[in-house]
Amino acid sequence: MKKSDTEQEQPGLEENKVSDSQSKRELDRELQELAEKEHQEEIYYEERRRERHERNLKRKKRQIRNRNLALIITALAVLGGVGYFYREQTGLKDGMETLVAKVRDLVPDKNSGKESKAAEELAKADQSTESIENPDINTEEAADSSDSTDIQPESGEGTADDSDETTGNTGDNSEDTAQDESGNMSDEEKTEDNSSDSANQPEQDAAQAAAIDLNGVMPQAAAAGTGIIRRQIRHEKKVLTTAKEKAAQYDYDGAISLLQKDNAYVRNVHFQNAAEKFQKKKDKCVAWSPEQVTHIFYHSLIVDTSKAFDGDYKTDGYNQVMTTMDEFNKITQIMYDEGYVMVNLYDLADVDENGKMQAKQVYLPKGKTPFVLSQDDVCYYHSQDGDGIATKLVIDEEGKIRNEYVQDDGSTVVGDYDVVPLIDRFVEEHPDFAYHGHKGIVALTGYNGILGYRTDISYQTRPDDLNDDKKAWLDAHPDFDLDTERAEAKKVADAMKAEGWTFASHTWGHKNMSTVSMERLETDTQNFKENIDPLIGGTDIIIFAFGADINNGGEYTGNEKFEYLKSQGYDYYCNVDSNQYFVQMADEYFRMGRRNVDGYRMYYNPDMLADLFDVSQVFDPSRPTPVPPMNGG
Ligand SMILES: [Zn+2]
Repeated sequence: MKKSDTEQEQPGLEENKVSDSQSKRELDRELQELAEKEHQEEIYYEERRRERHERNLKRKKRQIRNRNLALIITALAVLGGVGYFYREQTGLKDGMETLVAKVRDLVPDKNSGKESKAAEELAKADQSTESIENPDINTEEAADSSDSTDIQPESGEGTADDSDETTGNTGDNSEDTAQDESGNMSDEEKTEDNSSDSANQPEQDAAQAAAIDLNGVMPQAAAAGTGIIRRQIRHEKKVLTTAKEKAAQYDYDGAISLLQKDNAYVRNVHFQNAAEKFQKKKDKCVAWSPEQVTHIFYHSLIVDTSKAFDGDYKTDGYNQVMTTMDEFNKITQIMYDEGYVMVNLYDLADVDENGKMQAKQVYLPKGKTPFVLSQDDVCYYHSQDGDGIATKLVIDEEGKIRNEYVQDDGSTVVGDYDVVPLIDRFVEEHPDFAYHGHKGIVALTGYNGILGYRTDISYQTRPDDLNDDKKAWLDAHPDFDLDTERAEAKKVADAMKAEGWTFASHTWGHKNMSTVSMERLETDTQNFKENIDPLIGGTDIIIFAFGADINNGGEYTGNEKFEYLKSQGYDYYCNVDSNQYFVQMADEYFRMGRRNVDGYRMYYNPDMLADLFDVSQVFDPSRPTPVPPMNGG
C-alpha cells in the first residue's frame, strides 16, 4: 500500500494548477485507490478467515475421529462383555483383557500420536479420561474459542442425539452449552467466524459441533462402561464359582437358587446351563432317611503312640477308647474312597415351626453314603498332658484351625494333630466329603475348660476342693486370665462353626446320666450353660458321657430327666450303640446311636466295622496287643 505517499504528494502538486478535468481525474483515481484498498483489505481478511476455518476443520476432523474411536471402543467393550458370556456361541474365546489389548494394538496403526495415546488410555478403562480429551479441547478452545459461538448442541442432528441415548449423559451437553455462553472472545471475531462458517457449510459444522460434545462424553462413557462390565464379569464369575462349590457339596438347591436369584440369570447362558445341570444331578440323587444313616465317633487322636502307650496307668484306657492319628487318616481316606459323605444331625431332622421334630432326607448321588461324625471330650484335659496328644485348638495366620502339640523337647508346634484340623484339611482337598459343607459334632465337657482353653470359672475362683491338676496348671501359668482364655476359646469356636462344625454338650462334669441324681443333673446343666454356652453360642444336642443314656431305649416321653433336659432346650440325644443304625424319633426329640471307632472295637469286633473299612488295613501296629478287655463296660 502506498496510500500515504500519494496523499502526501498530491496536495502539493495540485495546489496551484487545479482544473475541473484534473480534479475529476484525481477523484476517479482516489475512488479507484479506495476501492482497491478495500479489496486488498477484503483479501487480507478473507485469508485470515480461510486460515482460521482450515484450522477449525482440522480440529473438528480430529474430534470426529476421537468420537468414532470412542464409539468403536465402547462397542468393542460391550461386545467384549457380551462375547465373554456367549463366547461359545460366538466363537470368541478371548476374555475381556485380550479384547482390550487388541483394541490397543489396533489403534496406533490407524491414528496419529494423540489418538493412539487416547486409545491406550481408554483401553486401560479404569483410568480417568480427562487426560485424553482435555489437552485437545482445552488448548484448541483457548486458542480458538470462536467456534463455541456457532456450536448449538440442539442443532446437531443424529449424532448428538445418539450420544445422549448411548450414554444417557445430558449433563455434559448442558455443561458445554454453559461454557459456550460464557465464552470470552471479541465481538469482531464472533461475527467474522459466524459469517465464514455459516456461509460455507452450516450443516457440516452443526454435526461437527455435536461431535465436540460427543468427544467430551464418549471416552468417559467408554471407560465407565468397561469398568462396569469388568465388575459385572467379576461378580458373575464369583456367583458361578460359588454355585459350583455348593453343587460339589450336593447343595443343588442352594446352587440353583443362587444362580436364579441373580439378575444375570436371564441372559447368562452359563448360569442357565449350570442350573439345568444341577437340577438333573439332584433329580438323579438317592434320598436317605435318618434311620439309614450311621454315626461314628472318636476321642482325641493319639499322635505319639510311644507316649500314649508308655505303660503308665492310662495306657490301657487309651488303647481301648482311642484311635491313633495314623488310623484315623487311613479310615478317613478309605471311607471317602468308598463314597461316604459327612452329614450333621440337622440334615437328618429339624424342629418345624410348631416345635415338632421332623425327619429330613439327605439327597446324594448314587454310590454315596451319608454318615455322621462326632468327637467326644475335645477339651484337652490336663490328665492327657505328656501323653502324645494335641493340647489345644488354635487359629493360625491363615485363619485355619490347627492344633498345638508339645514335642519331646518341650517346644510347642502348630499343625494338624486331631480330628478337627485333619478333617478340615481333608475337605479342602475333597469338598465332596462334606454334605453342604457340614462337618462333625464336637462334644464338650466344661470342668477343664474347652478346646484346650481353661475357660471354667473354677480356674478363677479357686475353690477349696480345686483338684491337683488345676492347681498345678495355675501354678505354671501365673498370668492366667479367665476373660482372655474365654475370648480365645470363643474365637476358635466361632471359626469352627464357620467351617461347618457343630457343638454338643457332653455334660459339664462328664456325668453318667443314667445314674446321676436329678439334683446333680440340674447343677451340671447349669454349669454347662454358664461356662460353655456363651462360648459356643449354645447347643440343643447332648452326647451322653460314657454313652450312658437316660433310659434303656424306650421312648423318652414321660422320663423326668428328659423333661428337664427338653425344658433346657435339648432336642437331639446321642448315646453309644454297637448297631449300625439306631434312630428314634418323636415330636419332642431326635435320638441316635453312635458307633465307637477305637482300639477296643477294632481289636475285638472288626466285623462290626466292615461296612466302613477293613480293620486289617488300618490297625496301628504300635498298639500293645491284646487290647485289654473292658471290665463290665
Ligand atoms: Zn467322654
